[in-house]
Amino acid sequence: MKITSTIKLNNTEYTFEIEERNEKDTLLKAIVLTNPRLKCDVCSNFDREKFKLDGNKDKEGNVYINNVCRACGAKSKLGEYKSGGGYFWKTFEKFEGTKSTTTNSAPDKFGNSGGDWSSKF
Ligand SMILES: [Zn+2]
Repeated sequence: MKITSTIKLNNTEYTFEIEERNEKDTLLKAIVLTNPRLKCDVCSNFDREKFKLDGNKDKEGNVYINNVCRACGAKSKLGEYKSGGGYFWKTFEKFEGTKSTTTNSAPDKFGNSGGDWSSKF
C-alpha cells in the first residue's frame, strides 16, 4: 500500500510518498508526518503559517528533523521509536545553545544531541 500525503506549512508544501510492507506502518507514517504539532508548547503560537520544517545532520551522520515555531524559535523534534517503523513529534522545547537536560522520557534513538542543532537560534 502506498500513500501520498501532503502538508502545507509556511507556504511550503511537503509531499510524502510512503510505502511500507505493512499497511498500518504506511498509515502511521503518513499520519504522523503530516500532523506535526501545530501549537507551540513554549509560546502557545498556533498560527500554522508560523511553523516550518527544518533539519540537520550531525558529524556522526544522525539526521534531525524539526518542526520550528517561528514565533519563538522552539523546536519540536521528530522522534523515532527504537523498535523501528514509527515516528512521533516531541513537545516543543527551546534550546539556548547550552546542553539542555530534557525530561522527555519517550524512547528516542537519537539521544540528546547537545548543542549541535541549536545553531540557528
Ligand atoms: Zn513558540
